[in-house]
Amino acid sequence: MVSDSHSNMLNMLCVGTTIRVNKKRPAPTSDIPINDSKKVKESAPDENEKTDKSVRKKHRIVVKGFDVTKPCESFQQMKELHPKILNSLLKKLPDNNIDAPTPIQMQCIPLLMDKRSILSCAPTGSGKTLTFVIPILSHLKKSQKGGFRALILSPTRELAQQIYREFKIIGGSRKFSVHFLSKDKAKSDVLTNEDGNKDVLIATPSYLLSMLENKKLDLSNLEFCMLDEADRLFEDGKKGFREEVFKILEYVDLIKVTVGLFSATLANGVDNWCFQHLDNFIQVFIGQVNGANSDIKQSLKFVGTEESKIYTLKSLLQQGFKPPTLIFTQTKERAKQLHQELKLVNSKTECIHSDLAQHKREEVIQQFREGKVWILICTDLLSRGLDFKHVNCVINFDLPQTKVDYIHRIGRTGRAGRSGEAITFFTEEDKKILPNIINVLKNSGCELPPWLKNLKGIARRDLKKACKKPVVRNSISTLPKYDQEKAAKRKQMIKASKEKKMKASKSS
Ligand code: ADP
Ligand code: MG
Repeated sequence: MVSDSHSNMLNMLCVGTTIRVNKKRPAPTSDIPINDSKKVKESAPDENEKTDKSVRKKHRIVVKGFDVTKPCESFQQMKELHPKILNSLLKKLPDNNIDAPTPIQMQCIPLLMDKRSILSCAPTGSGKTLTFVIPILSHLKKSQKGGFRALILSPTRELAQQIYREFKIIGGSRKFSVHFLSKDKAKSDVLTNEDGNKDVLIATPSYLLSMLENKKLDLSNLEFCMLDEADRLFEDGKKGFREEVFKILEYVDLIKVTVGLFSATLANGVDNWCFQHLDNFIQVFIGQVNGANSDIKQSLKFVGTEESKIYTLKSLLQQGFKPPTLIFTQTKERAKQLHQELKLVNSKTECIHSDLAQHKREEVIQQFREGKVWILICTDLLSRGLDFKHVNCVINFDLPQTKVDYIHRIGRTGRAGRSGEAITFFTEEDKKILPNIINVLKNSGCELPPWLKNLKGIARRDLKKACKKPVVRNSISTLPKYDQEKAAKRKQMIKASKEKKMKASKSS
């Protein structure tokens, strides 16, 4: 994907399409071979450029674009080269066990300090949040009245709240006015009130769009717009927010504003959008694009049939259980069913899904962070962005549908340089989409038995369809079949009776 996009861009430049470009651009910088390199004249690299290249090579940083800012291997060097970085922010880092920048921070903090728009792809848990928090707060300098100057878009409320906390922790004593756009805030006039200070707004797409459409919010003062988990934000359909995000971006002056798109995986036309809408932006890739975090020990476990999964899981938890553990299921119904089973094995088991009230979700996440909950059963609601530093193990009770989902799910462990373990169950039925995920393990250098290494999946065109159509799975239960059917019938009867009562009360 990397070289394709780049050669696309070069082709576009060569045939003179209407793409917006900075005419005064110097020669491009690219650390990876470019197919179309003959079409671009490169200036002879000077000593400085050579050092930059060796720093990038050492930290597996690949950049594409024009006139790329120097990477910095320490926060001290960043401060020397970008004096605008606030000392008060850097002072907060050691308190949070942060001594040296991660590769994404080495390259992207300097770029954002230079107000360059970026598209960046770096592994899960590699510190992408801090990458935009430091430059944004440094440029904002101090809290002030007027409209918001920075907007961060996140696909989930949980992630938005986490980003909000990081802004508050790093911003510390500077008292920046940082807001998380909750349902209550969207209804109140806290954000529309012209007197209050407003610096950074962190929002999920739905509430933000409705505020913009109702003219309750004005983005004309915006200087920074960051899209976290950009590929999820650009995704179509049930999981994604494509339409809403595109409408929101119509309110953002993309020429004036510095835009940052971040994720551990890139898909859904994110790069095409950048080529069409961003002027002179830089692409930054850390390590392998669309690869798993290398600090995670990954394994696949064949469990035969759906029915045997629960027994395998229980014995796994009884043998070498290393709490805290996150367990992913395919649907919220399955998460609830698994919770019923596991809470009998371990009382410190909880379950989180979109049916839970917001305050309950927050409470469960907090308890998990504090170590009061040892096993948290969840759906893909929790697969993106959430930083549970201490998670030792992720178990995919149900095989994820795509490799992107897999990379994000397992990325809840092995964060900030810690090691982690990911165990993925699969059944006979799952084998057709399994090779997709096997590729991720192979690329991460994981040991696999030969029969798995050579497992043939279904044809590519069928795979796309199969990924969209999840495997139908029997409910999770250790009850005998007769009792399960009896319970299901009872549930059905209660539901029908409730519906009847509702109808009756409506018609009376
Ligand atoms: P990502 O968005 O890349 O998945 P996060 O921004 O959530 O990762 O950061 C993951 C964890 O790493 C957080 O707990 C954060 O505090 C920590 N972290 C960020 N930068 C550094 C650093 N330079 N050194 C050590 N830990 C860091
Ligand atoms: Mg993140």
